[in-house]
Amino acid sequence: MKTITVIGGGIVGQFTAYYLSQAGFQVTVIDDLPAMPPASAGNCGLVRPSRVNPINSWHTLFQGLRWMGKKDAPLSIKPQLDYQFVKWFVAFAWHCRRSSVAQAAVARQQLLDKSWALYEDFFSKESVQSTWGKKGLLYTCITQDGVDYLRHDNEALPFPERHSRILSAQEVREIEPLVSEQVVGGGYCEVDGWLNPTDLLHDIRQINERQGVRFMNAQVDQLISKNRKVVAARCPNNEVSSEHFVLCAGAKSVPLARQVGEYLPVQPAKGYNLTCSTPLAQQPNLPVYMLEKKVVATPWSNGFRIGSTMEFSGYDLSLNPDRLNALKQAAESYMDISLDQVRMEPWAGWRPMASGGAPIIRPSRKMKNLTIATGHGMLGLSMAPATGLMVQEIIAK
Ligand SMILES: Cc1cc2nc3c(=O)[nH]c(=O)nc-3n(C[C@H](O)[C@H](O)[C@H](O)COP(=O)(O)OP(=O)(O)OC[C@H]3O[C@@H](n4cnc5c(N)ncnc54)[C@H](O)[C@@H]3O)c2cc1C
Repeated sequence: MKTITVIGGGIVGQFTAYYLSQAGFQVTVIDDLPAMPPASAGNCGLVRPSRVNPINSWHTLFQGLRWMGKKDAPLSIKPQLDYQFVKWFVAFAWHCRRSSVAQAAVARQQLLDKSWALYEDFFSKESVQSTWGKKGLLYTCITQDGVDYLRHDNEALPFPERHSRILSAQEVREIEPLVSEQVVGGGYCEVDGWLNPTDLLHDIRQINERQGVRFMNAQVDQLISKNRKVVAARCPNNEVSSEHFVLCAGAKSVPLARQVGEYLPVQPAKGYNLTCSTPLAQQPNLPVYMLEKKVVATPWSNGFRIGSTMEFSGYDLSLNPDRLNALKQAAESYMDISLDQVRMEPWAGWRPMASGGAPIIRPSRKMKNLTIATGHGMLGLSMAPATGLMVQEIIAK
């Protein structure tokens, strides 16, 4: 039986281990279990087959540049002379071309559709505590420009069945009565779903353990290679050898890949959330996307989260109070809720943003026995099952 070491136990690493062990491989997952849980636990929990188009666009670029230095902007780029960042930024701009966007969209669509089907299969087959809601996603706008943006977003998406149905303020309130008077309209996207990512991570890890996957809590400091093969993953107290290695350490895949000469065009894009570990007395009955502020409120039967914002500031996980406050202010202005008396835990984590808009799932170009799976950006949860299956197929070939 082939032995495989999966580096990184986020949602991509867990689904990779899940499909590899089902295919009969002997799998070890190494994860450093950081004090601040990774993006796989701290994300907004949306599974979004509607997000076929990547964010690569001149609009995003100019917005990022315009908001530079604005403390509470939803997208912020910290001015930096880091060569890796500049290289990534130039590549991101290059991939704003129409042909690149179309190419990324094809890859994303395949991963999104396959993942949705695999989630259906996973939740029907496995006995898990986490649940998944398929009621859709509600977009809310406090300006007419916001509603026009949603219309434009529909026009750019060549799949009418994934379009958001444009709604008047009255229609938005019929779907979610908690929406405030400030909301002038919105949209309803019925193909999207949501789940609690922390619960899912916990469930899939338990399933993997039952399937015989071995877990190691350690940080991989170095990939040791010889004759174009990775021979071991070096951790502080030991070295782990196996016949094959999979690198899915999220944004931290980049420095590990560099050790074996592999360049990955991925940058950490910090996001924030505020989470209440019990449901609010009154909370929305489906996820609410606050369009102008790019903030999402996600309700679960066992909690409530507001999250988002994207900050390019390198490998920094400090909690910026202005951004956390912006999340709270957005929720309180788009919905008739007050969070003053609610205890909410702050969190920050990195999305692994690939410059080309599609994740990097392929054999290494430098090492014969290394497969890479990272760069899922804003949609790692939505694409993880298909990624895991794809890695299994690459290795089984
Ligand atoms: C605020 C926010 C909201 C988001 N909302 C959504 C959403 O609604 N829907 C969606 O689909 N996606 C969403 N995302 C994106 C999604 O969370 C990520 O794309 C996804 O979590 C990436 O998963 P991953 O397993 O590749 O990486 P990670 O979650 O970063 O996991 C990597 C793991 O590897 C470990 N690791 C790293 N380096 C080492 C090392 N050297 N040794 C051992 N272990 C190591 C890390 O500790 C971590 O546990 C959101 C992200 C953020 C930040």
